[in-house]
Amino acid sequence: MKEKVLLVDDSRQARSAIKEALAGQFEVFIEAEDGLAAIKSFVEEKPGFIVTDIEMPSINGYRFISTIRNMEDGRDVPIILLSGSKDSLKKKLTGFNLGASDFLMKPFENEELVARVKSLLRVRNLMEELKEKNALLEKLAVTDELTGLNNRRHFFEAAHSQLALGLRHSFMIACLLMDIDHFKKINDTYGHMAGDEVLRRTGALLRACKREGEILARFGGEEFIMCLFNTSSENAAAAAERFRKLVSEHDFSAISQGLSITVSIGVAVWPQEHVTSIDDLVKAADRALYESKSLGRNRVTLFEYAPGKKLA
Ligand SMILES: [Mg+2]
Repeated sequence: MKEKVLLVDDSRQARSAIKEALAGQFEVFIEAEDGLAAIKSFVEEKPGFIVTDIEMPSINGYRFISTIRNMEDGRDVPIILLSGSKDSLKKKLTGFNLGASDFLMKPFENEELVARVKSLLRVRNLMEELKEKNALLEKLAVTDELTGLNNRRHFFEAAHSQLALGLRHSFMIACLLMDIDHFKKINDTYGHMAGDEVLRRTGALLRACKREGEILARFGGEEFIMCLFNTSSENAAAAAERFRKLVSEHDFSAISQGLSITVSIGVAVWPQEHVTSIDDLVKAADRALYESKSLGRNRVTLFEYAPGKKLA
């Protein structure tokens, strides 16, 4: 990516001098003659570095810096502040307080400006690397390695925040808990590699049906979980039935000849009597899943509260 710098100064001469000094450091130079034009250029061009004068008409360097620092994209961009007037200590302190990364008096030595730019670029690049690594770690922390789906931890985080929204906007949440039938037998008969591939493919089938905003995760072992929003129990059961059918009709013979897969699904909705939290919802779906299993598998069961039976 081309390294872009934004040069802000009301003097064309000063901009030329900075440009000349930094010719070896940046590939693209964007120029602005006051703070207002500079804010516009910053938004449009997204430069990775800024050198700005303080004394300018309309919006001066100080106001420009504080505007940039209040913007999401402008929080970490290095900014060197230049001043041509006396009383530099006070100006320096004001600039640093507003978020300037460095300060230089005009006229400056080219070598000094270059050295300061290089040092700030080094720090900026390290911070960007760190940010990328953190984002990767965050992603890994909520991703199931085998299927690439979200994991159980993500499921609970996402479901809890949806529950809060559901309370506020009073919409229903449906939970579908799915379990691959006789998975142990698949592992025993075809081997663990085949079992892993079954999990991957089943996950991919579910992901292909998942709509924007719905939650899908590998819940553990051979269990997958899904949350649908703003849906009735009938619609949720119909969706579950579609998934069941999709898996049972899918051709798994590439993994092993004659291999066919079915899933049992339990469906529950929130809110209803005795289902007031995400934990209740998952327990209720689990109860319904258990029913699907004991009724012969490869089927969908909708949770219905049975008096006298505890949820857990
Ligand atoms: Mg000026």
